[in-house]
Amino acid sequence: MRKINFSAGPSTLPQELLKEAQEQLCDYKGLGYSIMEISHRTKIFEEVHFDAMRKAKELYGLGEEYEVLFLQGGASLQFAMIPMNLAMGGVCEYANTGVWTKKAIKEAQILGVDVKVVSSSEEEKFSYIPKVEFSDNADYAYICSNNTIYGTQYKKYPKTKVPLIVDASSDFFSRKVDFSDIALFYGGVQKNAGISGLACLFIRQDMLERSRAKNIPSMLKYAIHAENNSLFNTPATFAIYMFHLEMQWLLNLGGLDEINKKNTQKAQLLYESIDLSEGFYKGHARKEDRSLMNVSFNIANNELESIFIKEAEEAGMIGLKGHRILGGIRASIYNAITLEQVKTLCEFMKAFRKKYA
Ligand SMILES: *Cc1c(COP(=O)(O)O)cnc(C)c1O
Repeated sequence: MRKINFSAGPSTLPQELLKEAQEQLCDYKGLGYSIMEISHRTKIFEEVHFDAMRKAKELYGLGEEYEVLFLQGGASLQFAMIPMNLAMGGVCEYANTGVWTKKAIKEAQILGVDVKVVSSSEEEKFSYIPKVEFSDNADYAYICSNNTIYGTQYKKYPKTKVPLIVDASSDFFSRKVDFSDIALFYGGVQKNAGISGLACLFIRQDMLERSRAKNIPSMLKYAIHAENNSLFNTPATFAIYMFHLEMQWLLNLGGLDEINKKNTQKAQLLYESIDLSEGFYKGHARKEDRSLMNVSFNIANNELESIFIKEAEEAGMIGLKGHRILGGIRASIYNAITLEQVKTLCEFMKAFRKKYA
């Protein structure tokens, strides 16, 4: 029996994709070997690689203006690659909304970049998305779309006059976004669009120009990866293969608007279970900034939290333990979590409350 898996990342995958990968694992399309066992320079792999790029762009409705890059090192390597490639000697502005922006800020500071934190919600445990106004002359403006630990999410990105950079690791491919100010949109794919080992970037051509002019090591240089179609060195071939399956799956579902509808429904149901619990459960994020992906909450009587997690596990639900920073409970309800699975959790929450309230 498969468990209902609310893990924050790596996370549950659509079962049909696991089955498809399983079927093809030893013998890819009748060739007599697996996709993992061949050169990334073969036509067979290249077809997967380039089709994954095409479909990723199709889902977001992007054209020639953006290049897709498949890189390794997770989202975390981007915290350093971004200032390395895109800082121009001016100020780089960040909105600080949680652990992941703090890490991005730190890496830029290590590189000696002139970092300015223009807004922060740290004083209130990152429970909301602070209002932010980026200046007109920064090298770039940086935000994190969805804060995986605190369960907050930008409903809309701030308008900027300067290139906007978005870490979308934990709401990647979960909804359409307005790209008009976005110069770089990126994430590790292991939360919402595949398995670990692969970071996917949508980078605008003018950012590649910036990168081209920089004297930095090849593996850290966007322009080099773009010129080589992300085949400069051996990419994470199996992760790209899984990502490709995910892109097909999303297109078959009807694209990002469709998945967003499902995600919205799921989140509403779960937040209702918190809000209608008469204070038994307490959501962490402010209502207006609640994430559709990560639902972080506590039980007013904290001592019940470990019992909740244990009993949930016994009922077949895993990955509900909150991040150690917040404690409590976190249900990550990414694309691959079904409405039925969320309903099961909600029913469990109701029964648990009846038992212990
Ligand atoms: C998980 C996460 C990261 C870090 O991803 P890695 O692939 O582990 O480096 C960065 N940003 C956000 C928003 C995340 O959720």
